[in-house]
Amino acid sequence: MSTATDLRHHQPPHIALFPSAGMGHLTPLLRLASMLASRNCRVTLITAQPPVSTAEASHITAFLAAYPAINRLDFQIVPYTPPNAAAAADPFALQFEAINRSVHLLTPTLSSTSPPISAIFSDIASAAGVCQVADDLRIPIYIVSTTSARFTALLPHIPSLIAPGSSITMAETSVRISGLTPFEISTLPPPFFIPNHVFTNTLVSNSLAMKKAKGILSNSFHAFEPETISAVNGGNFIPDFPPFLPIGPLEPHKLELGDRQPLPWLDQQPPESVVYVSFGSRTAMSRAQIRELRDGLELIGRNFLWVLKSRIVDKEDTEDIEELLGNSFVQRTKSKGMVVKGWVNQEEILSHPAIGCFVSHCGWNSVMEAAARGIPVVAWPQLGDQMVNAGVVETAGLGIWEKGWGWLGVKLVKGEEIAERG
Ligand code: UDP
Ligand code: UDP
Repeated sequence: MSTATDLRHHQPPHIALFPSAGMGHLTPLLRLASMLASRNCRVTLITAQPPVSTAEASHITAFLAAYPAINRLDFQIVPYTPPNAAAAADPFALQFEAINRSVHLLTPTLSSTSPPISAIFSDIASAAGVCQVADDLRIPIYIVSTTSARFTALLPHIPSLIAPGSSITMAETSVRISGLTPFEISTLPPPFFIPNHVFTNTLVSNSLAMKKAKGILSNSFHAFEPETISAVNGGNFIPDFPPFLPIGPLEPHKLELGDRQPLPWLDQQPPESVVYVSFGSRTAMSRAQIRELRDGLELIGRNFLWVLKSRIVDKEDTEDIEELLGNSFVQRTKSKGMVVKGWVNQEEILSHPAIGCFVSHCGWNSVMEAAARGIPVVAWPQLGDQMVNAGVVETAGLGIWEKGWGWLGVKLVKGEEIAERG
C-alpha cells in the first residue's frame, strides 16, 4: 500500500501522443492531448514532418503555443511511393504508410526520453509501426480510433477478408460479425476493391496490430452506438481483444484559428434557419458536382453556409469562389447564403444557434461534433469509412442518408435530387 511519502514522490504519467496524417486524425489527438495535460499528465506530442496539409502545420503550431506545457517531438518521415498508381491520388493514404514505415527511426529518441514515457497513445492509422516501437521499448500502447465504433469493430476482421496484396471479393453481399448488424459490402471503402491498394494494405497491418494494445480509445459514446459497444465489450467478440473505451464526444481544445467571417453573418440569421454544408478537410468534389450542389441549394431556398473545397490538399485549393460557382449565383444568393473557402472553426459554427442542419460527409469528427450539439445531419458520405458512419448516424436517429447518391465521383447527383432532400 502507498504511504503519503510515496504519493508525494509519485511522478505524473508521461503520455506520448502520436497522430497520423490529416486533420481528421490530428484533431482528436490534439483534443486528447489537451484533456490529459489538464489532468496532471506530462504530454509529448509526436508530429510527423512534413505534414501533408497547411492546416495540419498551422494547427500544430497554434496548439503548442496555446499549451506551452506540452512537449513537441518532431520526426522526419521518409516519403513512400506506392506500387499501385491508383493509390497515388490520395496523399493522406500515402502519408499513413510512410509514417508506419518511418516510425522505427524514433526508437532511440523515445528510449531516452526524460522522464520516461509511461504510455503511447497512437492513432489507429499508424498503429502497426508504433506498436512495433512500443513493443521493442516495452512501453504500453493504447490505440486511438478516429472513426466510428462500428467501423473500428470491422477492422480486426479485415485481414481475414483481404489476403495480402489482394482485394475484397464481391462473392458475398455482406460481412457478418457476431452481435452486429451485417455490413453491406457496398458500404465498405472503395480501395478495398482495388488489389494491392496502399490504403487497404496499411489498414490491414494496422488492424493486425490492434490486439497488442492495452485498450482502444474511441471518440464515441454508448448511447450513440449501443449495439457495437455492447458487442465489442461483451466478451464474445474476438479472443483477447483489448477493452474498448468510449470516451467521446471529445471536448474541443483551445483554438484561435479559422476564418471568422461566418460568425457575424450567422448572428444575423434566425435561429435554426441555416443549412451548414461541409465535406471536411480532404474531400474534393468535381467541378460538375459542385455546380449541381450549387443549383440544389438555390432550389431549396433556405439560408446556407457552404465551406467550399475543390482540391484534396488545401495548399492546392486556389480557385476562387466565383470561378467555381459563377458570378451570377454569388450575386443572386447574397442575401440568403454565404460561401467560404479555406479553414473555418467548425466547432464554433455548429455551436451557433442559427445552424438548423448539417449536410455532412460523415467524417467521424464531424459526426461527433454534430451529435454533441444535437444538430440533425443530412449524410452524404464520400470516401473511406463514411458510408459505415452514415449508417450509424441514421440508426442513432441523428440524420438521414440517401444511399442512391453513391461514392464520390461515381455518379453526378443532380441539383433537383439534392433539392428533394432539402
Ligand atoms: N474542420 C474545421 N474546419 C474546416 C474543415 C474541417 O474545423 O474548414 C474540422 C472539423 O470540425 C473536424 C475535422 O476538421 O473536426 C475534420 O474531420 P472529419 O473526421 O469530420 O473529416 P475529414 O476531414 O477527416 O474527412
Ligand atoms: N483507418 C484505419 N487504419 C488505417 C487507415 C485508416 O483504421 O490504416 C481508418 C481511420 O480511422 C479513418 C478511416 O479508416 O478514419 C477512413 O480513412 P480515410 O483515409 O478516409 O481517413 P479520414 O477521412 O479519417 O482522414
